[in-house]
Amino acid sequence: MAKVLLTGGSGFVGAHILNTLLERGYSITTTVRSSAKGDKILASHNLHGSKLSYVVVNDIADEGAFDLAVRSTPSFDYVIHTASPFPVEFTDPVKDVLTPAIKGTIGILRAVKSHAPSVKRVVVTSSFAAIVNPAFSPKIYDETSWNPVTWEQAVADRSLAYRGSKAFAEKAAWEFMEKEKPGFDLVTINPPLVYGPVAHHLESLSGLNTSNQRIRDFVQGKHTGDELPPTGTFLWVDVRDLALAHVRALEVSAAGGHRFFTTAGHCSHKRIVDAIRESYPELSYRLPKNPIDDFPEDCYGYDNGKVRDILGIEFHSLQQAIRDTVASLLRF
Ligand code: NDP
Repeated sequence: MAKVLLTGGSGFVGAHILNTLLERGYSITTTVRSSAKGDKILASHNLHGSKLSYVVVNDIADEGAFDLAVRSTPSFDYVIHTASPFPVEFTDPVKDVLTPAIKGTIGILRAVKSHAPSVKRVVVTSSFAAIVNPAFSPKIYDETSWNPVTWEQAVADRSLAYRGSKAFAEKAAWEFMEKEKPGFDLVTINPPLVYGPVAHHLESLSGLNTSNQRIRDFVQGKHTGDELPPTGTFLWVDVRDLALAHVRALEVSAAGGHRFFTTAGHCSHKRIVDAIRESYPELSYRLPKNPIDDFPEDCYGYDNGKVRDILGIEFHSLQQAIRDTVASLLRF
């Protein structure tokens, strides 16, 4: 079976991609920042034995970070690059967010071109952050939309650092393909907020990945007032559908050269609270009684037709996603 190099297998999204690859019979090497993290991944998949290994890439921003990781015997057929910072807090927007996203993406493409000629396709996890244009939202977001954030804005405004990091990294990837014309093709996957059960190793819920933290905070009773924190992004996707989209992006020949806006649909914090209450009425006492919905009447629309038609993805409902996310959080 084909062999895949997956970066960031220790993360929330990466762990689900790893599981989906294993379920579908692939051989996988994942990059991790330390052997301690790699050993935890191997220990939690002991059934799969030699089908799974890891290689340490301490910092994806380092020059030549992936030069050794992409060399393998037998050689890799595909690469999925998902490692990139998605922090709640950071000190320096350039060093902590922008540089690793951009250099990590360009670094893996360069390494594959120079040292892994057997690779047929690279799939990069981009984001709705690379698509969204809050100042001039189109009526419908789709794969033709790009976030127009500038470098200066991304450095000066902390709220734009992550959005900038994903937009610049994805643009740099497509430019690399145009200029370098490597022997592989590229697919980018652009999810909005990702919710879903935790599959990666986590010591406690204080280290939970950024997007699931909103659900954790509701479950832990941190917002009992009817006025909820702003939803911000009114689109979402289940991590299991997102993982399958990454793997289908390897498998479907027609996916090559495309961006995929992997969104399940609209969402708001009120809808999340309602979904928690419906599946877990016993948690009602921790939830706002009459939460106010900030979903705008004239909210932008979305077109996920390409993801359904080319990748064949059927999306989980918000109710299913929230039910399973909360079940996984309650285990901690
Ligand atoms: P996580 O923080 O859970 O995972 C990020 C992964 O990247 C981890 O494996 C992390 O390693 C690794 N990583 C981050 N920075 C570096 C670095 N400098 N050097 C080496 N490895 C690094 O986040 P998610 O799983 O949510 O995000 C995964 C991908 O999905 C990212 O590309 C993100 O932008 C994208 N995405 C996520 C969305 C979401 O809502 N969750 C929405 C849209 C896109 P370690 O575990 O050691 O920290």
